[in-house]
Amino acid sequence: MIISIASGKGGTGKTTVAVNLALSLDNAQLLDCDVEEPNAHIFLNPIISDKIPAYVPVPEIDKDKCTYCGKCAEVCAYHAIAVIPANNGKKGNVLVFPHLCHGCGACSLLCPADAIKEVKKEIGVVEVGDSGDIQFVHGILNVGEIMSPPLIRQVKQYINPTRTAIIDAPPGTTCPVIEAVKGSDFCILVTEPTPFGLYDLKLAVEVLNKLTIPFGVVINRSDIGDDKTEIYCREHNIPDLMRIPFDREIAELYSKGIPLVKEKKEYKTGFNNLYKTILKSIK
Ligand code: SF4
Ligand code: SF4
Repeated sequence: MIISIASGKGGTGKTTVAVNLALSLDNAQLLDCDVEEPNAHIFLNPIISDKIPAYVPVPEIDKDKCTYCGKCAEVCAYHAIAVIPANNGKKGNVLVFPHLCHGCGACSLLCPADAIKEVKKEIGVVEVGDSGDIQFVHGILNVGEIMSPPLIRQVKQYINPTRTAIIDAPPGTTCPVIEAVKGSDFCILVTEPTPFGLYDLKLAVEVLNKLTIPFGVVINRSDIGDDKTEIYCREHNIPDLMRIPFDREIAELYSKGIPLVKEKKEYKTGFNNLYKTILKSIK
């Protein structure tokens, strides 16, 4: 089973839920797909056994074969190629913007002159290891690199179907989040009961509805803010799965990189119950 943990907004406690859920289960695997800023390892201290460089295939143009027809620029949905056509006997040009390339391969497939070959561009690294009984995988995107979905895909290649895979998704509601959560059996949306939290929660709910992934909400710092999040969930039949109150001790543990369930055992039962509720709701 694959459970992803997402939040429309950063800083809501997504990693706290992912790490503590993993620590509360038998046979869990944690995949940190927040590749721009992975931080689950801070709490799990995994022993890394393998580091695998991650690449995307980007086009390289053979200017001797290119006819400057413009087909590649036409098919590129990401504006990663621009073609300047030949003009008045002057040779044209093809500009490739590797940072925008998603490595989809459409341009090389459709080039009528067979003028495009794919070359590997390193975008980051996937690290695989163990933290006690938990299998651990995370991706680290190279500094300055913006193309996180291909790296997220590569992290997800390590999903172990014999384990409960917990995916810590990036924050927000754009392509990287969709890449991280798609294929999940269930998604936990972590939010906080503030106007900003509710606004971003609504966006995340729209995304999950479109992807037809079942989901529920964990309200973090549940005793601050107002009751509008609770009312919204009730009105939209969104399961209110768990509450984590605002607590100085929890904040201190977080700042020291200590998982909640290690010091406050009652939360282990809480996260276990959360898992059981998810199992029931999927069935
Ligand atoms: S599709 Fe091929 S031939 Fe046409 S402009 Fe692009 S690289 Fe050149
Ligand atoms: S591989 Fe895909 S994203 Fe990259 S330049 Fe070609 S068409 Fe665009």
